[in-house]
Amino acid sequence: MPILDIRHADKVWDPLAGCTRKSAACRHCYAELLTSEAAKAGEEWAQGFAEAGAWTGKVDLRPERLLLPLEWEEPARILVNALSDLFHESLDNATIDKIFAVMALAPRHTFQVLTKRPKTMQPYIKDPATPARIEAAMAELSQDAPKIGAWPLPNVWLGVTAENQKEADRRIPLLLETPAALRFAAAEPLLEKIDLKSGVWLKEGGGGLDWVLAGGETGSEAQKCQPDWARAVRDQCAANGTAFFWTQWGEHVPAQESASPVGQTLDGVTHEAYPVNRS
Ligand code: SF4
Repeated sequence: MPILDIRHADKVWDPLAGCTRKSAACRHCYAELLTSEAAKAGEEWAQGFAEAGAWTGKVDLRPERLLLPLEWEEPARILVNALSDLFHESLDNATIDKIFAVMALAPRHTFQVLTKRPKTMQPYIKDPATPARIEAAMAELSQDAPKIGAWPLPNVWLGVTAENQKEADRRIPLLLETPAALRFAAAEPLLEKIDLKSGVWLKEGGGGLDWVLAGGETGSEAQKCQPDWARAVRDQCAANGTAFFWTQWGEHVPAQESASPVGQTLDGVTHEAYPVNRS
């Protein structure tokens, strides 16, 4: 099966395997199919995480991938866990700490942490004991590990998926109450028109979402993304000065956009804005 073309990151880092479905955005989860196919093909990393096209419920570290960002010398934008969710309810703090420890040990990179589980993310980030636990995990990974200079980590961007209004209403307020160097929402797959609450979630001059990604659904049974839904996200971001990134149309590319490689334009324009780090 095709792997999504993730254009908003230079690299994808998957230190976890396994997941379970959480909301409508998960209904055509490519990670579930990819993991299942890898397991069937006998790939070691995928064993036990998905079978016959469905998650088994197991979620765990892939130790062989944990330290990869430390080997990548060129500064990169890195999407964390395209095949899982860092804040899956079944993970313990010690596992999440190890992943944050690697991010803290690689300040040259910028990490995009995208979750559908801000209810788990918020208490983890807000827990006053978290930075010390991460420092302990850093010391286990590297003998000359420095102390955490700042918390939240300046090179970690936190984001939530907001595929429809219900999930936007549920997740974005939780994200905005979570300390982060930079916060973003991914309206992908965009399943309906979404009100991003100008003046509340999107704010001229900062204090709301710093970045919004949007894109259509992929997969053979994908829902068609209506151009007006995409335009509404674009226009709300423009009205509030929020960086907007249109990723792709997914399965159903409107005829007028098909001239671009995989339908990466919206009304003929490529939108690839990144936010400016506040820290
Ligand atoms: S959270 Fe992500 S990886 Fe997990 S089931 Fe949903 S789409 Fe798939």
